[in-house]
Amino acid sequence: MELLRVRVPLAAPWITAGGTLHARDVVLIRVVFGGQEGWAECVAHPEPTYSAEYVEGAWDVLGRHLIPRLLSAQPGDAQQVAGVLAPVKGHQMAKAALELALLDAQLRATGRPLARYLADRLPGAPAPAKCVPAGVAVGLSGSLDALVAEVGRFVDDGYQRVKLKIQPGWDEAPVAALRRVFGPRLALQVDANGAYADVSDAAGALLTLDGHGLVCIEQPLGDDDMVGHAELGLVLSTPICLDEGVASPADAETALALGACRVLNIKAGRVGGYLAAVDIAARCARAGVPVWCGGMVETGLGRAANLALAALAPFTLTGDVSASDRFWAHDIVTAPTVLHAGGTIAVPSGPGVGVEVRGDVVAGALSREWHPGGTPSS
Ligand code: MG
Repeated sequence: MELLRVRVPLAAPWITAGGTLHARDVVLIRVVFGGQEGWAECVAHPEPTYSAEYVEGAWDVLGRHLIPRLLSAQPGDAQQVAGVLAPVKGHQMAKAALELALLDAQLRATGRPLARYLADRLPGAPAPAKCVPAGVAVGLSGSLDALVAEVGRFVDDGYQRVKLKIQPGWDEAPVAALRRVFGPRLALQVDANGAYADVSDAAGALLTLDGHGLVCIEQPLGDDDMVGHAELGLVLSTPICLDEGVASPADAETALALGACRVLNIKAGRVGGYLAAVDIAARCARAGVPVWCGGMVETGLGRAANLALAALAPFTLTGDVSASDRFWAHDIVTAPTVLHAGGTIAVPSGPGVGVEVRGDVVAGALSREWHPGGTPSS
């Protein structure tokens, strides 16, 4: 087992209410499990502004706590990883990456694609889709003209749904501008990353969006404000979607019970792994709440696993599933995702996550390495 830290430049800066990313500092996990190699990336960002997790913290907890527990427990199946790591509180993204690395190895050993394996965990569900509709997330923009031009390029490329980052002062005007230019048929939704202070602040600003036919308004309030989202949902006619506020299957149950969301964005990293993500998707399906697969500016490695998730039956809404060139000039995998005619992306069909890590790119981007027995800070 080893940890590799790589720094991959973004094709363009990524701007949200949480800050600006110019490059992705990524922790990669490589394991050999059951005689087979498996890979995963940890989706934590450099700063703890999306959630409490961040790259340096993930690196530390993996080397200091999670990997030693795993090596000591010697699980025989990737399904046991979450239980082994459960005594460590939080650190969902680090745990998710570790589980996926083992799962990738395990599935490669038996020749099974991740999408097929995940679909089999949904009793009675159909086979996973072979391709999924592509959606794109657009960061906070400096001007309406720049935003319209950027969205125009994505629409021309064939993206089927656009998600716009918003914050107080940048909400109704950009949405109205996009509706004016692209009309009512563009599938459009917004994401505030918790930027509104409270229910009255959010209601005042977001009621103006109700006439624009949005798919949903994502995480307007803070990640711990489940009741506030339920209250806001009574005021707005646009469905509220949660993201940061749901970090586990138990959180999802709370949100469903309270009516805190009518749509859910599922990110495997945020909820502790792909198995937990499928569990949440099943709960939402039973509750009649549609879900979609979110993104964390993953490289092609994490993107491939997200495609497997997005291919499952409960994922009826278009997710943040975009082509590799949305974020990367040079992806770290041998088969970067591409947008096909009709605005779809193929779900990898090979064993495990279905893509291969490019050793040359990883070697060129490598900043740190760690092996069990080394000190986490080395
Ligand atoms: Mg979000």
